[in-house]
Amino acid sequence: MRTAVITAPGQVEIREIPVPDVGDSEVLVRIAACGICTMEANLYAGRMNVYPAAAGHEISGWVEKVGAKAADLEDMPAVGSLVTLDGLPRCGTCRACRRGQSAICVALQGQVREDGAIAMGAGLGEYIVLPASRVWSVGDTDPAVAAMGEPLACVVHSLRRGGFRAGDRVTVIGAGYMGRLHLAVARHLQARGVCVVERDQQRLAAIADAGADAAVTPEDVGHLAPADVVFVTIASRESIATALASVADGGTIVLFGGGPDGPPAELPGYEVHRRQLTVTGSFSHEPDDWRAAAELLRGGGLAERLRTLVTARYALDEVEKALQQTAGTPVYRVVVTP
Ligand SMILES: [Zn+2]
Ligand SMILES: [Zn+2]
Repeated sequence: MRTAVITAPGQVEIREIPVPDVGDSEVLVRIAACGICTMEANLYAGRMNVYPAAAGHEISGWVEKVGAKAADLEDMPAVGSLVTLDGLPRCGTCRACRRGQSAICVALQGQVREDGAIAMGAGLGEYIVLPASRVWSVGDTDPAVAAMGEPLACVVHSLRRGGFRAGDRVTVIGAGYMGRLHLAVARHLQARGVCVVERDQQRLAAIADAGADAAVTPEDVGHLAPADVVFVTIASRESIATALASVADGGTIVLFGGGPDGPPAELPGYEVHRRQLTVTGSFSHEPDDWRAAAELLRGGGLAERLRTLVTARYALDEVEKALQQTAGTPVYRVVVTP
């Protein structure tokens, strides 16, 4: 099988390796699509120094073979069915995993594959083997949409961290890909209203058809109805200040997006106390989030809306073009289909 490996900043190699063996509790999947996320863009740009990396963690595919024990599991997808995959392993034994918080597992990345590549999703290739517990059936949908299972699981996790309930007013700060997913899912799960705050004019214009009740620049946030939950998908001092200005008394701010090099924001202690605000973080996902994400992908209106977020599709040979395009704006999801 062919597999793409990022060997150094700006360098990708297509390697030929054997199709992996399937263990008793594992599933072999023929990969249908793999989205390019920030992690892959960072590896390609040299901002994340882990080489050689078998990257690509937003994966969908068709079940090719099911291990003997896995076949007996309840809800195990049949051979030939479309699945979305949780490609990033959790250790199961660290303090966080044992406390039911595997999203913050300390051993999130990095088994070394037989060809020497560090498996960080390993979705940019033709086949993948995963434990049956990380394979989720999605029914009949566009494989590029099915590959959104991982980011959707992140968004479900974020909604859960924010205590979101149907009927809540929501404000999403940032209209990039993750902001758009927050908007789509909150809308789908019966938010009373969803407003979006974005500075980039192109992204703001693109939001017109995306079902937001209002889309404004940070200067105009005072015109929005106060939100029960505010999702901050762009980490900056400005977005945290905007979140404080748009959250309702008693509401919750979820810090979802974040780069480690962002400037620290000030937390106004008195305001948090007097207005009884909750400020929380959200990172990655847990199995329960995957369960919900797989159901969200299963046909219907949301899958159709998500399809508009597929910016471009490339063959595996063109993976470098896909990585390069991801650096542009507005790019929502660039997908590689082997
Ligand atoms: Zn991702
Ligand atoms: Zn762990």
